[in-house]
This record gives sequence, structure tokens and C-alpha cells, in this order.
Amino acid sequence: MGWHVNLLTLFPDMFPGTLGHSISGRALENGLWSHEAIQIRDFATDKHNTVDDTPFGGGAGMVMRPDVIENALLSCKKPGRNIYLSPRGTPLTQSLAEELAQEDALTLLCGRYEGVDQRVLDVHNFEEISIGDYVLSGGEPAAIILMDACIRLLDGVMGNNETVNEESFSNGLLEYPHYTKPDPWVDAHGNTHAVPETLKSGHHKNINAWRQEKSLELTRKRRPDLLKKNDKKT
Ligand code: SAM
Repeated sequence: MGWHVNLLTLFPDMFPGTLGHSISGRALENGLWSHEAIQIRDFATDKHNTVDDTPFGGGAGMVMRPDVIENALLSCKKPGRNIYLSPRGTPLTQSLAEELAQEDALTLLCGRYEGVDQRVLDVHNFEEISIGDYVLSGGEPAAIILMDACIRLLDGVMGNNETVNEESFSNGLLEYPHYTKPDPWVDAHGNTHAVPETLKSGHHKNINAWRQEKSLELTRKRRPDLLKKNDKKT
């Protein structure tokens, strides 16, 4: 069955969404991963199919009910590590994606409204994961991003493992710049741009050194926090 993801959502039609295309779409067709999008509303117990209610203590918005979410969760045929997509969560990083891609199954709870009753998160040990310091209107796009980051790491998904190993973050640095044909390239303003000579030299040691230097330069300029993180590790 490969890597499996249960999605607890009020919008099951949003899946597989973009994951049904290109690399992840082919991997889905080839059975390297699978998913089941579970409609939380199907587990409501009143005649109005209510999934949310007003927050105790007052305040704006509605909160998703713990009983309905629990019923949806317990219906998963292949339960897995419970994750609630949430802006309060641990930031999603490449190393966390690598860890999640090793699991047999995940259950991703996609919140809506103001979020989810805390008790169901506590009782069922949901870890919270955030895709960044901004607020989305729902967890579904966050789930798709998390899954995309994991799927491309699954065995057999990417043709060339070197691609994954050399990408941004995999060695703690941002990736070096890429160039392809034509060389030189004349832009729309009539200016000519050549590809750096080292890359055309065929000298692999020099090419690797050039790329390493550019990676460091870019990381220093754009994400010095990554270099500090690496210092701490060593
Ligand atoms: N009231 C919540 C707060 O301030 O933390 C935000 C609720 S948000 C409008 C609705 C849902 O979108 C959340 O329950 C969560 O599932 C999802 N969401 C929003 N931002 C997210 C983020 N940065 N990462 C992951 N999920 C997010």
C-alpha cells in the first residue's frame, strides 16, 4: 500500500488536488502512496450535522467539536501518527518531512473556523505542525504542502536520488544557482549573459567547489539563521 495518509477534513474534494499531478500524481498512480479523505461531517450526531459550536469563554468564531472529530478519527482503516495542521505547531522543515516520510501512515486533521477543541488533540496525542508564520483559512492547503514535501522523498518517487540530496536544506544550506542553454543568452533588452566558465569546464572538482561556495554565499546572504543552526549541531 506504500505510504498512507488519512485526511480528516470538511472538504474531502480538495484531495488529492495538486498532488494528483506531475511527480506526486504518477507516484499515486503507481501505488507508492495512498490517501483517504474522510468527511468529518459524516460523523456528526445531530440532525443538522453540526461539526462546530461557539467557544466557551466567548470570542469570535466557531470551534470544531471534539466528539465529531473523534468519531471521524476512529473510522480510519489504517490509523497513523496523528498530526493537527496548526499555526501554533512545530515549523515544518526538511528534516521533519524526512521523518514523516518514514512513517507507514499519517492522519492529518485539517482545521477550519477558529480551530479545534483542545481536548480531542490531547486525548489522541495530536502533534501540531505549522507550515509557516501566517494564518490560512483552513488546514487543507497545509496538509497538501506537508504531503508534497514527504512524497518526493519516498523510495522510487524521484528518478535520481542525487536531486533530493543536493537540494536546498538537505545539507543545511540553500541550493546553488542553475544554468542551462542557450549560452550565451541575449535578453529582451539586447544584453548578453554568459554561463559561469567553471560550469562549462568539465572539471568536476572545480564545479563542486564553485557550487559549494555559491551555496554558502547565498545562505549567508538570505538565511544566516541556517548557518547558525549548523554551528550549534557541530
Ligand atoms: N485561530 C487559529 C489561530 O489563531 O491559531 C487559526 C485558525 S485558522 C483560521 C483555521 C485552520 O487553518 C486551523 O485550524 C489550521 O488547521 C489551519 N491553519 C491555518 N494556518 C496554518 C498554518 N500556518 N499551518 C498549518 N495550518 C494552518
